[in-house]
Amino acid sequence: MQAFEAVQHYFNTAADELELSEELRTLLSTPEREITVQLPVEMDDGRLVSLLGYRVQHNRVRGPMKGGLRYHHEVDLDEVRSLASLMTWKTAVVNIPFGGAKGGVTVDNRAISPREKERITRKFVDEIHELIGPDKDIPAPDMGTDHEVMAWFVNQYNKYAGFNPAVVTGKPVEHYGIPGREEATGRGVGILTIKSLGRLGCKARGATVAIQGFGNVGSHAAKFLSEAECKVVAVSDLSGGYYNPEGLDIMEAVRYAREHGNSLAGYPGAEAITNHDLLELDVTVLIPAALGGVIHTENADRIRAKLIVEAANSPVRPEADEILAQRDVAILPDVLANAGGVTVSYFEWAQNRQFYQWNLNRVRGELDHLLSTAFEQVWDLSAERNVTLRTAAFMVGIQRVARAAKLAGLTS
Ligand code: NAD
Repeated sequence: MQAFEAVQHYFNTAADELELSEELRTLLSTPEREITVQLPVEMDDGRLVSLLGYRVQHNRVRGPMKGGLRYHHEVDLDEVRSLASLMTWKTAVVNIPFGGAKGGVTVDNRAISPREKERITRKFVDEIHELIGPDKDIPAPDMGTDHEVMAWFVNQYNKYAGFNPAVVTGKPVEHYGIPGREEATGRGVGILTIKSLGRLGCKARGATVAIQGFGNVGSHAAKFLSEAECKVVAVSDLSGGYYNPEGLDIMEAVRYAREHGNSLAGYPGAEAITNHDLLELDVTVLIPAALGGVIHTENADRIRAKLIVEAANSPVRPEADEILAQRDVAILPDVLANAGGVTVSYFEWAQNRQFYQWNLNRVRGELDHLLSTAFEQVWDLSAERNVTLRTAAFMVGIQRVARAAKLAGLTS
């Protein structure tokens, strides 16, 4: 299944449960606008390279569209389209007043210099500035982009539109960013993991956790969960996996990665395992926080975790999702599990429009409140309708967007 087809599969399962009309299905599953632009960029050695950039604006019925900007060599229109539609359901599940969008540039992020990255970003803004804005479509960081890219983005956008910090989120705090944005997705994963364990009747204290990916999301989730007295027994990154059945010292692993170019390569406090082995460990919770599609038909039968928390987008393929559901493995789906990032992005957008700086306590408190409310709704609906947590989360999201579309007079 292609990426967009997979999201459509989940959409259709939830739409069937909701008995959604054909006209609403078509309206809500078709992206409003898809933009492909050519980005001719001069590289440091003087070569002119023509890259492709994409922005898919999926739905704006509930507010301006919101979604990250990914720089990765595998970015294509189908992937961006699938991530844009996921954003529509994600913003609706946590009930923040945004629609869904996503963007990307097909480029090997590891092969470009910071100056080349800056030129790519400014060129991309030149091409799409008329179609985005604080009331239209608000990008944010994603894989391969960060707060520095967002600072260049705002600077270039402001040349066209004047002072407008709310055009993107995930900015540096010194550039109208919000405290707590960087930790938000991982912290949200942590909060929701603890809540899920409670609903499954497991104690957080001593529950074993394996996390694939030790970047922004994985490392913050690991910190939160070890502070909550879970036993994080394995983490991994591109260099491989690191396992200690007695529990890893997460602060030490974070320090080690920071001192070694954001890599755990050679980490001494654990046994080296592969990324495949990590997924199949006998743990209470498995948190894929790196790539999409890592749990598939070939390994779904060997997953031993009771609970999978989807920190990455689409880490479980639809065929594996069915196998795991039959085996009673609970999956907290991406549209809820990693929604902490977009939730705090909403606070940043609100802060920018209020011209009033929020503090970290307020950010954390409101994040906890919005995620917890969404979690209870999804978990209760799943129990009430006897559907998976993923189907329940899509049902909550789709229902909100469908109701807004009806109220706006878009459909009867
Ligand atoms: P990141 O670039 O900071 O970290 C990615 C981590 O994954 C790194 O540790 C990297 O070494 C590891 N990794 C990369 N390829 C791997 C491989 N083949 N096997 C094992 N590990 C590998 O990215 P991030 O911001 O932490 O995002 C992680 C995932 O979470 C992505 O799927 C992203 O779309 C999703 N996500 C991120 C946010 C956010 O706010 N950052 C929000 C929602 C969803």
